[in-house]
Amino acid sequence: MASGEEMEWELRRSLVRFGRMLYRLGFMPGTSGNLSVRLDEERILATPTGRSKFLLRSEDMVIVDLDGRQLAGTRKVTSEIGMHLAIYRLRPDADAVIHSHPPIATGFACSGRPLDEPLCSEAIMTLGVVPLAPYATTGTHGLVESLEPLIPHHSAILLANHGAVTCGNDLLDAFLKMETVEHFAHICLVAHQLGSVRLLEGHAIDQLHEARARYLAGAHQGGRMVRQMVAG
Ligand SMILES: [Zn+2]
Repeated sequence: MASGEEMEWELRRSLVRFGRMLYRLGFMPGTSGNLSVRLDEERILATPTGRSKFLLRSEDMVIVDLDGRQLAGTRKVTSEIGMHLAIYRLRPDADAVIHSHPPIATGFACSGRPLDEPLCSEAIMTLGVVPLAPYATTGTHGLVESLEPLIPHHSAILLANHGAVTCGNDLLDAFLKMETVEHFAHICLVAHQLGSVRLLEGHAIDQLHEARARYLAGAHQGGRMVRQMVAG
């Protein structure tokens, strides 16, 4: 059984690994974007502000409490931490949060368009609808307020004129959702460029929603089993 300290360093290495993957995908250019994970009931481990996700090291991470007060780390906490904390507060099932600026999904967010068309069966199954939170200045409480009504019902949300945020039961889960958001946005863009979009209808959508409910129940069960195993 891993000690608390070993587990913390494993999570630090995971933040480095997924940060690099998101950077390579072009979702976190410059020093943009941030990732975080729950360390325990009261503490969040997060990437710091002002650091390229390609150059990030395990020791760069910061630890904050659920009110955003910095508890550890020599670097500064990101001004976007409020969005992460709102998700941890409203989604007890979420143990990881990723915020990034994937270019095509962000293009939709800059055009006032949620990803809500029933176009792709896989996207309906894995993401459901990806809503668009109204614009608010990054790093302000206004951004948290714009997200709050959506967080309980969605694990992937577009932020108007800004980017996207996803949560999951671990970093891999949040990463896969972010990757799928961008992939779905790309498909929507191409379908609209081709000019003859055919939306899924009635019965087909109902069946996908049923399949999604089964998928979510399975994922929830899986996550709980893993947590029970970790807790011993
Ligand atoms: Zn941002």
